Amino acid sequence: MKIINIGIVAHVDAGKTSLTERILFETAVIDTIGKVDHGNTQTDSMELERRRGITIKASVVSFFLKDVKINLIDTPGHADFIAEVERSLSVLDGAILVISAVEGIQAQTKILMSILKKLRIPTLIFINKIDRMGAKSTRLIENIKEKLIENIIPLYTVEKLGTKEAEIVQKQFNAESDPYFFEESLLALNDDSLLEAYVNERKITEEQIKAIMINQIKEGKLCPVYFGSAMTGIGVRELLNGVETMLPVSHGLEKESLSGTVFKIEREASGEKIAYIRVFSGTIHVREYVKINRKSIEKTINTHTEKIKKIHQFYNGSSVISPKVIAGDFCKVWGLKDIKIGDLVGEWSAKIMNIPFAAPQLETQIKPVQKEKTHDLYQALMEMSEEDPLIHVLKDDFHHDLFIRIFGEVQKEVIHSVLKEKYHVDVTFSETRVICIEKPKGIGQALERMGEADNPFYGTVGFRVEPSEFGSGKTYKLGVELGSLPLAFHKAIEETVFDVLKQGLFGWEVEDIVVTLTHTGYASPVTTASDFRKLVPLVLMEALVKAGTDVYEPMNKFELSVPANSISQAMFKLSAIQAEFTEPFFRRDSYILKGTLPMAVTEKFKRNLYSFTEGEGIFIAKPYGYKKMVSDFPVRKRVDFNPLNRKDYLLHVMKTY
Ligand code: GDP
Ligand code: MG
Repeated sequence: MKIINIGIVAHVDAGKTSLTERILFETAVIDTIGKVDHGNTQTDSMELERRRGITIKASVVSFFLKDVKINLIDTPGHADFIAEVERSLSVLDGAILVISAVEGIQAQTKILMSILKKLRIPTLIFINKIDRMGAKSTRLIENIKEKLIENIIPLYTVEKLGTKEAEIVQKQFNAESDPYFFEESLLALNDDSLLEAYVNERKITEEQIKAIMINQIKEGKLCPVYFGSAMTGIGVRELLNGVETMLPVSHGLEKESLSGTVFKIEREASGEKIAYIRVFSGTIHVREYVKINRKSIEKTINTHTEKIKKIHQFYNGSSVISPKVIAGDFCKVWGLKDIKIGDLVGEWSAKIMNIPFAAPQLETQIKPVQKEKTHDLYQALMEMSEEDPLIHVLKDDFHHDLFIRIFGEVQKEVIHSVLKEKYHVDVTFSETRVICIEKPKGIGQALERMGEADNPFYGTVGFRVEPSEFGSGKTYKLGVELGSLPLAFHKAIEETVFDVLKQGLFGWEVEDIVVTLTHTGYASPVTTASDFRKLVPLVLMEALVKAGTDVYEPMNKFELSVPANSISQAMFKLSAIQAEFTEPFFRRDSYILKGTLPMAVTEKFKRNLYSFTEGEGIFIAKPYGYKKMVSDFPVRKRVDFNPLNRKDYLLHVMKTY
């Protein structure tokens, strides 16, 4: 069976939900059309999604176009979630980009198109709302060429534009009946064989042009433009015809071993989890044991095995039971208990591993308004984090505080609303702040010997710490013979080292460091692993104090586009917040600036930009490593008895010793 996996993307209010409804109606999946304005559409379910008009969670609806099965994947649309948008678009074979004929190109339209281009996803452009007063067509086409993508080919013209009777007329690739469009399309295709034939006045048939056009569309080099109205239904059949004939079918590697990604988790009323999987290669069979691979925030890969109990395939708007699902398709499976979004089922595959999965670098403390709901809040957040890869929950057991790691402010609003509506817990957030890291400045050594006056433990430990290369993380080395200690003591030391490195001199996680165990000693049979667990923090922190650390803050890479009259203001404001950028260059009607800026000030600049450019500025930012801070380092509250304060530390650990 041929399968095409597509997504519809758009700026809020361009008509994505209405178009989805219309498509499901046209393909006989639903027999009445839900209206966004009545809140009864097939794909928008949550209250918040309806209110704000944004789709938060991906879901799948499938339908048939003749013998081709189309899986329509709902994709999130908000800019805060750009990493998530990229991740969800990367599973698509093709996309429909909806643009409103009335509002035209909007900020999100540009961001989405830039991602589609980057991922080389074949895209059909659908200009919606041609029935509404104020709708534009010719000028909008010019705008699309200038601001979105140069290589487009409008396949229709509109008559009675801006009225309820608006209609579309197919253009003809015919030198006689439509010479202007004929030449336009030859130019757009820019194909050597066609141009050569044209120059030599040889006959070019419609079939020739179409074959070349479809090839280019499938390769993502050219976007056809359709016109229509999700409201009246005009143009939707034609668009679907384009989906069927112009998008590439899913090329699953059936013969290879299984690998697929989990992109959504749902729960049954009983609490049982349902995982949505995109199968890239191989086949998933029911009652089969599969490997589940998960990349942690620390980038290590953990693998476990579980059994698939039941499989559903998507079929005509609902899902049906199936014994297996093959490469290229999507499915829902039951039986996987320890499963999360982003997990990889089956074997690691280079293709899938490359899908970006950025860790959030912003953090906020979250508190229930009613203190007695703390436990409910924790339970709710844990459940939400399993279903939503954007939510990372951290529990500080020392102070009994809860933190979440997020990508942006809109996400706070979403979490706030889900907690209230679904879990009936009202919460407040602290101000959002960035998560920094620390790196050692130089080399530091420390040693405490058993039996020395101020070492109350039965053990000897010495460490050397030193900086290591950028991005190398934490490395632990033995500078002593393995046989110098019983294995259990080695293990206790190593575990404690990694634990200690979670909080450096300023409270941030220590990275790009090598810790070498230089000295050991114990006294049989009095020494226990606990002696080492308590001694290691003192010695390692002392070594770290001697080495010194620098604090690094997370950075964003950005691209900014502003109208000519706002460029100097934009540059001024960027300089004021320590952004670094290249010379601006002029493209079409606006200036483009590229550079880096601290993540901590990104959100504020984005909001500010919107007002000083009157909504014309477009700003795209993405995480881009770390930069050393020279002053005003933020300090993070420690979540232990501080080993830097020896007296206090000893007082507390000796209590439990
Ligand atoms: P979304 O935010 O992209 O999902 O857009 P919606 O489907 O929610 O539509 C936003 C608004 O535009 C709603 O009030 C729709 O009724 C209206 N709308 C959508 N498509 C059309 C159309 O083709 N013509 C007209 N006149 N209105 C439309
Ligand atoms: Mg919508």
